[in-house]
Amino acid sequence: MNYYVLTLFPEMIENGMNTSIVGRAIAKGYLSLTTVNIRDYSVTGNGRIDDYPYGGGAGMVMQAEPVCRAYEDLIGRIGKRPRVVYLTPQGRVFSQQMARELAREEDLIFLCGHYEGVDERVLEEIATDFVSIGDYVLTGGELPAMVMMDSVARMVPGVLSNQESGQNESFQDGLLEYPQYSRPEEWRGKLVPQVLLSGHHGNVDRWRRDQSLLRTLRSRPELLERAALDKKDRKYLQSLLEEGQETALTDDEKSFLAKLLAI
Ligand code: SAM
Repeated sequence: MNYYVLTLFPEMIENGMNTSIVGRAIAKGYLSLTTVNIRDYSVTGNGRIDDYPYGGGAGMVMQAEPVCRAYEDLIGRIGKRPRVVYLTPQGRVFSQQMARELAREEDLIFLCGHYEGVDERVLEEIATDFVSIGDYVLTGGELPAMVMMDSVARMVPGVLSNQESGQNESFQDGLLEYPQYSRPEEWRGKLVPQVLLSGHHGNVDRWRRDQSLLRTLRSRPELLERAALDKKDRKYLQSLLEEGQETALTDDEKSFLAKLLAI
C-alpha cells in the first residue's frame, strides 16, 4: 500500500506515521509514505496558499491552484491517478468496512484541509471520496488522515505481525470485542474469569461470543440490529431478560433487547 498525503504539515504526518506498528511496516516496505507540502506550490511564491472566502465570513480558504498543482505534480511522478480522499467533517463517516474496502487499493492519496476548508472547485476536479472521522470539527485533516491510514494499514498483509489479531477485533463481525485479560491470574483481588483458564476452547469461544454480545448491547446496541445472530446468540440474549441474571440490564437495555428478539 502506498500512501500519499497532500498537506500543509508534512512533519506532522511523518512524525505520526513513522512510529509504532505503522512505522515498522514502513521500514519493512509493507507500506510507503510520501508527503507533499502544498505550500511549495504557492501561486504567489511566498508559501501563501490561502485567501479570503468570497461572500465574506470568518476564516480563510485554501486556494484551488496550489492544491491542484501539488496534486498534478504528484500524479506526474507516480504515473497513475489513485483515489483521492478529501478529509472533511461533511463526508461519509469512516468505518471498519470502509477501511477494509480501501485496503484493496494499491495507492491512496489523502488531501488534508485547513482553515475553513478547500476551494470547492478543486475538490470537484480531484477528490473521489469525502470522508469524515466523526461528527466533530478538528483544525486540520492531518489527524483524520492518520486515523484512516493507521486503520487501513492494519488490513494490509504483513503489517500486523500476527494476522489473527486483526481478525477477531471489534467491528470485524459487526460486534464489539470481548474483554481481554493477561497475567497475573489475580490482580488486586480481581480474578480472571475461570473459563479462560479452563483450556476448553469451545467454552472459551462461547464465553467470548456472549461477552461480545453483552458489550455491544451495553455500548452500541444499534450494531446488534445489523449483526448476524445465530440460535445460540439469541438464546444467550434471551437469557439476559430472565430474572436473577448477574449481568442485570437497565430498563432501556431490556426493552431494546425484547424488541430485537421479537423480530
Ligand atoms: N468549515 C469546515 C466545515 O464546517 O465543514 C470545517 C473546516 S475544519 C476547521 C478544517 C479541516 O479539518 C477540514 O478541511 C478537514 O480537512 C479537517 N477536518 C476537520 N474535522 C474533520 C473531521 N471530523 N473529519 C475529517 N476531516 C476533518
